[in-house]
Amino acid sequence: MAVPKRRTSKTRKRLRRTHFKLEVPGMVKCLTCGDYKLSHRVCKSCGTYKGQEVVNKF
Ligand SMILES: [Zn+2]
Repeated sequence: MAVPKRRTSKTRKRLRRTHFKLEVPGMVKCLTCGDYKLSHRVCKSCGTYKGQEVVNKF
């Protein structure tokens, strides 16, 4: 097993952890209804993608 030669300093550890965040990114506003949706996904509330209807609602 590889053993680290030097202990990671508080600053190094904290700098590394600045990259992991809690919030979920990739939320954009829907073109049709203006609701927030995940980008590159069909809108949940109106069933459209890029302004075109994809999911049929009856
Ligand atoms: Zn929508």
